[in-house]
Amino acid sequence: MEQDTQNPAVEAPVAGRTLSRGMKSLVALGALGAVSVLVGLMATGPGISNAPGTAEAAIAPPPLAATLLTATEITGPGPAVTHEAGRLQRRETLTGLVTRLGAPTDEAAAALHTLYDQELIDPRRLLPGLEAEVMLEEGHLRALTVKAEPGRNLFITSAGGGKWTAAALNARLSENHARIAAPIETSIYDAALQLGAGDQQVVDFASTFAYDVDFQREIHPGDSFEMVYETYTDEAGKPVKSGNLVYAALKGQALTRAFYRFTPSDDGETDYFDENGESATKFLMKTPINGARISSSFGNRRHPISGYTRLHKGTDFAAPTGTPVYAAGNGTVEWAARKGGYGNYIVVKHANGYKTAYAHLSRYARGLKSGKRVRQGDTIGYVGSTGASTGPHLHYEVYIKGAPVNAMKLKLPTGRKLAESPDMLAEFLIRKAEIDGIRADKGAALMTVALSENPPSP
Ligand SMILES: [Zn+2]
Repeated sequence: MEQDTQNPAVEAPVAGRTLSRGMKSLVALGALGAVSVLVGLMATGPGISNAPGTAEAAIAPPPLAATLLTATEITGPGPAVTHEAGRLQRRETLTGLVTRLGAPTDEAAAALHTLYDQELIDPRRLLPGLEAEVMLEEGHLRALTVKAEPGRNLFITSAGGGKWTAAALNARLSENHARIAAPIETSIYDAALQLGAGDQQVVDFASTFAYDVDFQREIHPGDSFEMVYETYTDEAGKPVKSGNLVYAALKGQALTRAFYRFTPSDDGETDYFDENGESATKFLMKTPINGARISSSFGNRRHPISGYTRLHKGTDFAAPTGTPVYAAGNGTVEWAARKGGYGNYIVVKHANGYKTAYAHLSRYARGLKSGKRVRQGDTIGYVGSTGASTGPHLHYEVYIKGAPVNAMKLKLPTGRKLAESPDMLAEFLIRKAEIDGIRADKGAALMTVALSENPPSP
């Protein structure tokens, strides 16, 4: 059949004679007046150039699920049409998936081959979770949809005689930004999700502030946050996906700080920088464990076991046995073995005379031993109660040139300072002004003036 495979949307309304059954059902659905439903389905990623004319098309093919339902309805009594959907599993090929959904192997392979031939999808870059839907007629593959990425669907339909037609359905995505800001009532997570952010944006926000703020203990009622992140909308203005967090700010009792996402052109390392161009990333993390409560602080105390008053050289975090313990910074493991009252004990040596130590562990991370290099945030062990311990907790110590210091009060060396590279600082200030412009467009000034009085608006 003759068809502009890049543009089934234009082709569909004029067809009829030579179209495959799959395409006929697309036409039928369009004719049924489901255009409004279809508009929202025509999403795709940016930068995909093979969709000329998509925007001009009045009627677009729907995803196969809708197609198949319609096909079943309109064909009435006739050949048995079934449809099946599934997701690509780890180590499964796309042909494997389509076969698993019921298509004969040779038909699955031939249908997918048209996709690869036209370079509509790269078979070496398929991720687990990729969704495919098949339409089978009397055990034979008639049509196939592959959801290549959010908003980009690939359609393959049987043209008869072992021939297949493939088409990519794209909508033009426009990049925009969403800005959300609100007082923190329960948690940043809850508030941000309510306002439309996704998990990824919240995770990025939390990791940006992980060096400065302890979210378990240092967020108070009345504190507020602001996030700006990328969004992608289709031609109907419907959000298709969200992207990077570009701005993160926290206004609270513990600290008030804002970070801008920026990639210096000299090293290409994306990071979050404050208004002075200082990286949010710090030499050491403030707490090397998540979700724990401080059960004993650094300083003099009466030891629970010995009964003597003496210096408690670390901070205790109460947490269930098995909670992962992270390397607070990049460094080399100096000790990973039992050590008296410390029980299972790890010491990591960092740059500039710093060391961190982790006691009472139930076990070590697999492969961890003295001499091993670790990166900040690597799991090095798990909470336990080994040695002189009254219950599961992490006893965490920081030493500077051999002297124990209070990790919670530590003024930590920061990561990169752009001021040391004037060119990069200049680049950063341009990007910062852009982001501040986006914030202003989205009403940042209003929110900053009276954050707690104004109800948040996404
Ligand atoms: Zn302790």
